[in-house]
Amino acid sequence: MRNLPLHDQGDADTVADAERGFVAALTPGVVTTADGRVIWDADSYAFLHQECPPTAHPGLWRHARLCSRQGLYEVTEGVYQVRGLDLANMTLVEGDEGVVVIDPLGSTECARAALGLYRAHRGPRPVTGVIHTHSHVDHFGGVRGVTGGGVPIVAPAGFLEHVIAEHVHAGPATARRSVYANGTALDRDPSGQIGTGLGLALSTGTVSLIPPTVSVDRTGQEETIDGVRIVFQLTPGTAAPTGMNLHLPGPSALFLADNATRALHDVLGPRGAPVGDARAWSRHLDEAAALFAGRSDVALASHHWPTWGRDRIVALLSAHRDLYAYLHDQTLRLMNSGLTGTEIAEALRLPPELERAACTRGLHGTAVHTVKAVYQRYLGWYDGNPAHLWEHPPRESATRYVECLGGGAAVVAHARRYAEAGDLRFAAQLLNQAVFADEGNKEARDLLAEVYTRLGHAVESGAWRDCYLTGAKELVEGIAPAAPYAVPTEVLAAMSVEQVFDLIASRVNGPRAWRERLSVDWYLPDLGERHRTTLSNGALIHQATPPDEPADLTLKLTKAQLVGLLAGRNVEGVEREGDTTALKRLVAVLDPPLDGFAVVTP
Ligand SMILES: [Zn+2]
Repeated sequence: MRNLPLHDQGDADTVADAERGFVAALTPGVVTTADGRVIWDADSYAFLHQECPPTAHPGLWRHARLCSRQGLYEVTEGVYQVRGLDLANMTLVEGDEGVVVIDPLGSTECARAALGLYRAHRGPRPVTGVIHTHSHVDHFGGVRGVTGGGVPIVAPAGFLEHVIAEHVHAGPATARRSVYANGTALDRDPSGQIGTGLGLALSTGTVSLIPPTVSVDRTGQEETIDGVRIVFQLTPGTAAPTGMNLHLPGPSALFLADNATRALHDVLGPRGAPVGDARAWSRHLDEAAALFAGRSDVALASHHWPTWGRDRIVALLSAHRDLYAYLHDQTLRLMNSGLTGTEIAEALRLPPELERAACTRGLHGTAVHTVKAVYQRYLGWYDGNPAHLWEHPPRESATRYVECLGGGAAVVAHARRYAEAGDLRFAAQLLNQAVFADEGNKEARDLLAEVYTRLGHAVESGAWRDCYLTGAKELVEGIAPAAPYAVPTEVLAAMSVEQVFDLIASRVNGPRAWRERLSVDWYLPDLGERHRTTLSNGALIHQATPPDEPADLTLKLTKAQLVGLLAGRNVEGVEREGDTTALKRLVAVLDPPLDGFAVVTP
């Protein structure tokens, strides 16, 4: 829990950067869906203009206050940003005829509001192109709020594949964990949700997707859209598996996406994801400096606010470059001297200059989390200690620990002693055992909620705060009912048939399917594709080219019909040949989509 001096020079610069170029705010700062549901409420963060209360880390509070300065900003001539109307920024670059939008926010409603705010001050310019810097939803989900298509949609190679992977393979699990990592269920007040460190929150409107029409395949690739010249630099393995920076030679602006913002980001966020590569991240930033810093007067990003002046751009890039490299290399060094991820995270000290830098603070990602992610990338979850090779699962081990410690009441008493002495981390460990041993132990639940709340109020990372406070809330109130996770319609539409079968395979209830053996051929004449799925030993095997021996059932259908059938719906107009019970038997072994599962209780 590092503490930045309250009124240091770096901070004054930060405030000046966040305020510079302000044109106008959206008033009121509220965005709703067509049926009136509020999906963004910037005004609900007005309390951040108070002095920091004891219920928040001063660094996070100050940062959140700057993130709450929503509105339209002029970055440089012809380049604008709308900030504070979603987790990410929308950037607008004026061209010959209209305006090119970089990263159109996370939902169509917020994107429409942001574009409306821009147009109110810059005239009704048409959107002449869209650029998605990477595959996270806050950077593409709003695209239909700015265009219906028919303009270039530019994205890095592999964009669609990663969008789909993120929403499909781990969709329900990450959606549930996102409630924790983004604090979406928390009240917004001085002791509740005050921002994620990356921006205030993730909007909750309609997610859209238009498949890209221009793929960026290499660093140095140039495109001109509506007279705007753009040079791209690919940055895979950073916050997302695929991503890019871009340089605008016209306005001498360097766009850094999520790669160098005003906080430490994640190679692996608490929401869960495939782990990124901290060393690659560092190298991409060094390359960005070499390619573009000398030709840039301003650097801007998809979160937070721009940095003006070449020296300051170089300093920003160097600080992030050094930090990711340091976290990577020191983790390797200590890992190879025998330390585990948890031990490295505790032992690692940052160099004083990085410790002081305002732009790399752990306001969102943390050094502790990053070190463990680097360890995981190289060595996986197992720390090499055989005691951890085959542990009891949480409830079973908790029951035994609590028994050894003299029962639930004794554990709570021990925990209270640690909490009073300020060792909240160990108090949480103890109480977690008591709750997992007996979820009805109200004293343990209440004290654990209190400990999580104190931890949440003390930490600098907005994401960590959200995790702790959400844990506290669910201990006291239980899990709020949530709608079952659904893959956004346009993401589903963009999936290949093979990806649809990947999704279905992950919903096969293994034990229920053990004894089923069946094969179905799916013939999609409009796509000219034939696929076979075989259910064998509880695994749904997909073959893009069916073997010669006939399947139990052959279906002739469209992709939409295929999706409908696998969702268990009655679909008209499908030609069936063979054993029609095969389809029913397949659908019968699929698990329905999950709704909220327990996290802080067994
Ligand atoms: Zn982002």
